[in-house]
Amino acid sequence: MRVFFDIIGCRLNQSEVEKMAGQFRAAGHEVVSSPAEADMVVVNTCAVTSEAASDSRQKIRQAARAGVEKIVVTGCWSTLDPQGAAVLPNVAQVVANAEKDHLVSTVLNQPAEVFELEPLARQPLPGLRARTRAFIKVQDGCDNHCTFCVTRLARGQSQSQPVETVLADIQAALLGGAQEIVLTGVHLGSWGQDLLPARSLRELLKIILEKCRIPRLRLSSLEPWDLEDDFFELWRDPRLCPHLHLPLQSGSAGVLRRMGRNTTPELFAALVAAARTVVPGMAITTDMITGFPGETETEFEESLAFVQQIGFAAGHVFHYSPRPGTPALRFPNQVDPRLSKQRSARLRAAFAVMSDSFRQQFVGQTAQVLWEALRSNGPEGWRLEGLTGNYIRVEAFAPRLMQNEFSQVLLTGLTDGGLAGTILSPTEPETVN
Ligand code: SF4
Repeated sequence: MRVFFDIIGCRLNQSEVEKMAGQFRAAGHEVVSSPAEADMVVVNTCAVTSEAASDSRQKIRQAARAGVEKIVVTGCWSTLDPQGAAVLPNVAQVVANAEKDHLVSTVLNQPAEVFELEPLARQPLPGLRARTRAFIKVQDGCDNHCTFCVTRLARGQSQSQPVETVLADIQAALLGGAQEIVLTGVHLGSWGQDLLPARSLRELLKIILEKCRIPRLRLSSLEPWDLEDDFFELWRDPRLCPHLHLPLQSGSAGVLRRMGRNTTPELFAALVAAARTVVPGMAITTDMITGFPGETETEFEESLAFVQQIGFAAGHVFHYSPRPGTPALRFPNQVDPRLSKQRSARLRAAFAVMSDSFRQQFVGQTAQVLWEALRSNGPEGWRLEGLTGNYIRVEAFAPRLMQNEFSQVLLTGLTDGGLAGTILSPTEPETVN
């Protein structure tokens, strides 16, 4: 059977389908790069915003229009609305998030143990950009109560993967050629708190760095709480990428309170200062929501000023999306969506300025780049694109295709959203920082 995977949403969804793809391959099936080539499509859906839910339905309809007769739907949107998913064309099965780990054995009607015998090399999916990074799910679910969040409803309580499973998944990814491991979770910072005895993310990182020959290790997203005082000491190991994604959501104390976020602007600023003390040049990126119910003009201005005070390297800005089942849906003083969008535009403009100034400080310096994709091929050579450890997208001309290799690069100037560079030399992965 030929199987195509489609995802909407986060890196967790990406990580999950990569694991499923490995299991289908191990069972003798082929993973293909488009629905038109497939006998079966698996769609891993998302519900984080109303747009993501609508995209999820669209992906399913697209697969049906491409002539796929068997569509298996899983993920957050279909877990929250299984009937809505089941009635879409050619949907044969809806697999809830709680059953997702066994999706392949369920679909193939085989015992789950078949896939637990030995680690399967995890390879990039066909059709995606040549991937150098592997997303490893170490945790799922969340015990927090952010009032806007539908993800915690769709993903359930926090559950950590045991250390042995995480190490096996990482080894499988390294076996498949990954040069960078990205740990993902819905609430990654809570890893280990549900295990007996309880453990911490700091412990997990130490074990991974000790036991695995990883060229680069990156953390996907950490809520700005739960981190121990000495957490950033781990970055003394240069394999840990100097990049932290800390979702702030709002820089106004009042809005954060109504959002049910477990932080304040002061605590957030202290956390960033602690990180920068240990790792100067650390890229701090974030997520923001504009137009949360009751957000006044003053609160938005506070938020904007705070974001500028922090000086983020980049940020994703979303306008508030009312989600069924969340407390914020019923909050008074819902903000006109047109105003939310205007505020989003202002915030994005501020992030663009901050991003330029963050990248500008590295012009004239050298950095190690992991080449990820080919942008073009012309008389000047192969134009490659890759990432630095601190998550700056770099473009440079190369004498040959060097995807999934490291180079030492002289950073020469700003591009739209990244930096241009000149390759100085290839680098042994073990020396990467
Ligand atoms: S921390 Fe908040 S936003 Fe993140 S998944 Fe948990 S409830 Fe949702």
